[in-house]
Amino acid sequence: MKCNLDGEFSKGELQRFGNIEVSPSAGVLNYGQGLFEGMKAYRKQDGKNILLFRPEENATRMRSGAERMCMPAPTVDQFVEAVKATVLANKRWVPPAGKGSLYIRPLLMGTGAVLGLAPAPEYTFLVYVSPVGNYFKEGVAPINLIVESEFHRATPGGTGGVKTIGNYAAVLKAQSIAKSKGYSDVLYLDCVHKRYLEEVSSCNIFIVKDKVISTPEIKGTILPGITRKSIIDVARTQGFKVEERNVTVDELLEADEVFCTGTAVVVSPVGSITHKGKRVSYGEGSFGPVSEKLYTVLTSLQMGLSEDNMNWTVNLS
Ligand code: PMP
Repeated sequence: MKCNLDGEFSKGELQRFGNIEVSPSAGVLNYGQGLFEGMKAYRKQDGKNILLFRPEENATRMRSGAERMCMPAPTVDQFVEAVKATVLANKRWVPPAGKGSLYIRPLLMGTGAVLGLAPAPEYTFLVYVSPVGNYFKEGVAPINLIVESEFHRATPGGTGGVKTIGNYAAVLKAQSIAKSKGYSDVLYLDCVHKRYLEEVSSCNIFIVKDKVISTPEIKGTILPGITRKSIIDVARTQGFKVEERNVTVDELLEADEVFCTGTAVVVSPVGSITHKGKRVSYGEGSFGPVSEKLYTVLTSLQMGLSEDNMNWTVNLS
């Protein structure tokens, strides 16, 4: 059965950032009925125009996540309009070109009161923004990952394929332990075979071997990243062969390059991966040639430094 997505969302209004009031028995607080998106707006070099990147993709992903979480969702148009209005109202917070971006956080949650386990009777959709710099403290320098051996973030049939808040609660412990040991983040394996790569806590993973780019296929336990999808298209346009398939943890040993993709991390080179106490290193403290090319093509497009022949950016001025 498909959950009904046709809840009514009336047009909201712009408000100053501040606390919101919800019932202690709100669905989101008790049963985790919450979904979010992450997007970025970049200021163009003219200092005036601001670019959004594929906002309708985030809207569509929120709608499919809402179906999994038994929530109604805003239409694609409502979502995109709310994002545009929020960014335009916060134009002055979009950093100058080359100095970061405005991170955009659309959030959908069950705010209606519900005591017995059931979908909430009412929902709230809101958007807030914040200027940001680089996601990892390393900047765009290579990150160091550890393959997680104790915890999993997603199971087959679970909610790993949608951007629901509980998925992030599940990774906090693994990520904190990894960070306390000096790693940048955790790389998850599938929980059935403990052999296939899944993703990092907040980004997708790619390996490069002999100029062939491979990334785990989408099969319900990893998030279908919009950067992942865009990088696959960019790479194919640049003449690379890209495979979406099961990638084994052993392939990390042979890879020429490993990199991560996501809205926050953009394209981040991986400098090392530790698995069962063995550390494999990649590159010499910077991007490998393939990931560097993809990073440059994608960010030039997102920042308006090159012509958008993919038709992916939305201009706001
Ligand atoms: N996987 C997870 C778990 C994430 O949180 C994100 C960030 N949204 C991604 C992958 C990358 O997705 P996107 O490229 O759409 O930001």
